[in-house]
Amino acid sequence: MGRLRLHILASGSKGNAAIVEDSATGEGFLIDCGLCKRDFMARSAEAGFDVRRLRGIVITHAHSDHTKCLGVVLRGLAKEGLCLPLYAHPETVRESEPVRQVRDDGLCDVRPMAAGDVISLAGMQVHPFATSHDAAVSFGFRVECAADALGYLTDSGHVPGAAHEALSGVRLLALESNHDLGMLKTCGYPYYLQQRIASDQGHLSNAQAAAELERLLHSGLEAVAAMHVSQESNTYGIPRRTLGEVLTREEHPAHMHVAYQQQLVSVG
Ligand SMILES: [Zn+2]
Ligand SMILES: [Zn+2]
Repeated sequence: MGRLRLHILASGSKGNAAIVEDSATGEGFLIDCGLCKRDFMARSAEAGFDVRRLRGIVITHAHSDHTKCLGVVLRGLAKEGLCLPLYAHPETVRESEPVRQVRDDGLCDVRPMAAGDVISLAGMQVHPFATSHDAAVSFGFRVECAADALGYLTDSGHVPGAAHEALSGVRLLALESNHDLGMLKTCGYPYYLQQRIASDQGHLSNAQAAAELERLLHSGLEAVAAMHVSQESNTYGIPRRTLGEVLTREEHPAHMHVAYQQQLVSVG
């Protein structure tokens, strides 16, 4: 078993937050903060993760489902004596009111982040890579620790070449599987929103996620988590089946998880 653990506190269009933990030290960092303080604290505790062991925050992009609860959560962490470094691209800072607010309130130390950087957090190496999304900039992450590696990609209309490279060879893979294309067309979303979600700057469909998973399969892959699953244009069952079929077809033993909006899922 590897050292990295991914605690997905919430995933979906109503709020996103995940903790990457080095299980050897119990330290970790937070990816995004779109989950209210009460649920953030409760699900961290349920994961067995002590929030006082957070060593930093990385922000994928400025959309509110990824940033809206920074203020309340960081205020809660400040009461525990924490003032964390928060890594965000300058364009994300410009675009995100919650990020600017926590910076101006002195609740964190905002530091610039860009694709190709290597950020050292809690003894782990975090490699941001660009995703394709309708924010000014957006990122996924490859996290490495000792010989272990994790890949994290959400909010991307397709998988750019560099993102695919960054996700290759990981033991734990968190991969967006946002919508079922048929359900998206009949879900009642206005046409412009359907177009946006299905576009190259939108979100990965179940079929796109399955195709990417197939390309990423290797013998060291141990677990897959379907991420950012829509509650309007998908069900939790469809990604489990669609991605699960890739594993079954290739007789691959990796565990299949689905991340939820309202429930903790720990992987690894
Ligand atoms: Zn999102
Ligand atoms: Zn987004």
